[in-house]
Amino acid sequence: MPRRIDTYLKDLVAEEKFAFYESVRDFADAEIAPKLLHWEREHVLVPDECIQRMGEMGLFGLPIAETYGGQGGDHTDLVLMGLAVAYHSQSVAITPGAALSLGAKPLQLCGTEAQKRAHLPDLATGKRMFAFGLSEPGRGSDAANPEVTAVKKGSGWVISGEKCWATNAHWASHVVVHALTNTNGPNGKRSTCFIVPRNQKGVFYQEMKGKKVWEQSSTGSVMFDNVEVPHEAILGAENDGFKVMVTTLNGGRLFIAALALGSLAFALDKCRVYAEERIQFDNKPIGRFQRVQDVIVDMDIALERGLTWLLHCCRLYDQDRLSREQAAKVKVDCSRTASDLLVLAMEICGGVSCFDEFGLIRHHNDLFVTRVGEGSNFALKDLIVRPLRGN
Ligand SMILES: Cc1cc2nc3c(=O)[nH]c(=O)nc-3n(C[C@H](O)[C@H](O)[C@H](O)COP(=O)(O)OP(=O)(O)OC[C@H]3O[C@@H](n4cnc5c(N)ncnc54)[C@H](O)[C@@H]3O)c2cc1C
Repeated sequence: MPRRIDTYLKDLVAEEKFAFYESVRDFADAEIAPKLLHWEREHVLVPDECIQRMGEMGLFGLPIAETYGGQGGDHTDLVLMGLAVAYHSQSVAITPGAALSLGAKPLQLCGTEAQKRAHLPDLATGKRMFAFGLSEPGRGSDAANPEVTAVKKGSGWVISGEKCWATNAHWASHVVVHALTNTNGPNGKRSTCFIVPRNQKGVFYQEMKGKKVWEQSSTGSVMFDNVEVPHEAILGAENDGFKVMVTTLNGGRLFIAALALGSLAFALDKCRVYAEERIQFDNKPIGRFQRVQDVIVDMDIALERGLTWLLHCCRLYDQDRLSREQAAKVKVDCSRTASDLLVLAMEICGGVSCFDEFGLIRHHNDLFVTRVGEGSNFALKDLIVRPLRGN
């Protein structure tokens, strides 16, 4: 049976974009899907060869301008890559996904020409990655008020404190650190972003152990012990760091929605096939039961609706017309709907769902991250409700 997601995407995007999607889909089928179980059972991060292959395919440079060594594409390309790879593995998809939507994006949005020339060409090929240092052990949703501080010293700054849950920290050459610089400033104007090399004296990285979601993705804690950086390390304007971070998150949230829909697309195909192949009671498939059909139909509706909405948001984002509320809404809806339906999809497939080989449990676990990552859904609803209350 052809993939249901392909049927929809073919109508939703231009021919050349669909051809690009197909090329990434075929790569993921051939070079990721057959190795995934082994990587999971061996508890390894995305292997270097896989990162290198994705770099050769240009996946780390999709929306980076050609003048900086990228592919000169747009956010739709990034989201199509996310859909194609997340169909098998969100962990693998988030590696170039976060490298671009969280790592390179703040530089593209707010970097000086010198900063872009210094970093974007290597970021565009995957030779270098930036990690996004917003969250801290004591600051998740309340990210506007970091406990990490940066204090002026001579012509530079001294950074202290800890960032956590930083995706791609293992491969990161630099961390974009969001630090408190103006304690008494108005809310949203108290912090500044700095580009800090991960191998700088006083920077200590540790992979966070025990994570049972996105298992092949690197998630690190990074300590800053009186790390001295020059003034030129500032990304964007002084005391405007929160704006740098939240503007970046709009695109990141669209990518998280793509991960959720990639997982949903896999589960839908898995259930459609299983429901026809699982024969019980009078030698007939379980797909004849209306309750089984209900779940499959709901997954199909959610997939078509989610893809249509997400690709619409991508177009608005590329035209610089997507509001924070719109990005938050599509992320909340796709992640919540896909993860709710995944539980029902597993129920349809019964006992086999509990085994890694079958694939659904991986997507079930990974979908949880899409609910909390890049803004927990409950916290994002605070944002979504503002225009509804006239704020
Ligand atoms: C695998 C993984 C990768 C990640 N990668 C990165 C990364 O690369 N960079 C980075 O900076 N961070 C990253 N994060 C962190 C992620 O963005 C945070 O987990 C998220 O912002 C939520 O913060 P928290 O976990 O501290 O939850 P908390 O802020 O403690 O919130 C807990 C719960 O409280 C409720 N809540 C909180 N605030 C509100 C509110 N305003 N209104 C209503 N309810 C609320 C919600 O139910 C929420 O889920 C990652 C996290 C994970 C799990």
